[in-house]
Amino acid sequence: MINKYLYIKNNNFLRLLDNLSADYKVFTPQETRKNYFWKEYKGAFEFSKYRSVTNLRQFFTPAVEQIDNYFGSNKAQERKPICIVGAKACDLGNALKIHDYVFLEGDVDSAYKQLREKNLIISSDCTAFKETCFCLALGNMPYPEELFDLNISCVNDGYLVEIGSKKGEGTVASNKSLFETVNDTTLKERENNRNSVTKEFRCQIEPLEFPKDSLLYNLIKNGYGDKLWPEEALKCVECGACIMNCPTCHCFLLFDTKDKDGYFKGRVWDGCQYKNFTRVAGGANALRLREQRLRNRYIKKFEFFPERIKLYACTGCGRCVEGCPAKIDIRKIFKLLNENQNSAKK
Ligand code: SF4
Ligand code: SF4
Repeated sequence: MINKYLYIKNNNFLRLLDNLSADYKVFTPQETRKNYFWKEYKGAFEFSKYRSVTNLRQFFTPAVEQIDNYFGSNKAQERKPICIVGAKACDLGNALKIHDYVFLEGDVDSAYKQLREKNLIISSDCTAFKETCFCLALGNMPYPEELFDLNISCVNDGYLVEIGSKKGEGTVASNKSLFETVNDTTLKERENNRNSVTKEFRCQIEPLEFPKDSLLYNLIKNGYGDKLWPEEALKCVECGACIMNCPTCHCFLLFDTKDKDGYFKGRVWDGCQYKNFTRVAGGANALRLREQRLRNRYIKKFEFFPERIKLYACTGCGRCVEGCPAKIDIRKIFKLLNENQNSAKK
């Protein structure tokens, strides 16, 4: 029986990644001008302080892919499994739960299933946060609590490793000599680090006056006719950055095309901010107006999913805020909805 907590020195962690490279295509975050991007591991590892610019969706449902049928592809079987190192709490939690619900409940998407089962996730604590991060406001912590195989937290010249799954346990068992037992001082160090980041983060969140997470469902449900939708939508240029960067967004478009081997069906990411997202043959479009599309995004995330699976389809990662050239800010939208509904009650 392996302990749930272990310690690994920095140099041994690199050896672990080298060993994993034999079975997996390993991706780690790499920094470019204070932003992290997923890059293939080439022998060096840099711990990311906060989330990467892009989410994990690309690893489970590639942006464009060839599929064999409506419910997934055999192509997934041919891919080398992927090991994602440094995923943050906002990449896991509700993000993976929403994707699992969409692609695994009912008609199973076999391509997604294979990629999810084959991949290994080594997550990590946030040791800092971006100006756009607000996971705490949604009741999520800046460190992973679930859905990882292994989690690493920075401690004294190495990492405290937490095992989160059988796959993680197997990884440790196959690389036993690289790990050491962990003592109470190291466990305490992790707790102190987590507490101090959370405390500092709370100071950033408080001035935002973001409503309590328990209110969000009602704010959206009762805010259907709010004047902010047309006002905010006027600024939207339909670039799609908010939907493509979101770790919970999952919509796609099927298309038929051909290459040198013949015809095939393809799948490409799609999303509700695009004008033709709901256009059907004949030209009818249920979300014809930009304000309808903007509101739809919030309804889907804060009304549709809570009603079905009691989860918000938002992890508070702030990527939609960061990516929006029109500066449409989810945090401001909820603050305004709250203010507007409170003043209507007076
Ligand atoms: S809606 Fe925005 S903040 Fe929420 S998970 Fe998606 S990108 Fe992140
Ligand atoms: S990122 Fe901003 S401008 Fe682009 S589609 Fe989303 S809301 Fe519109």
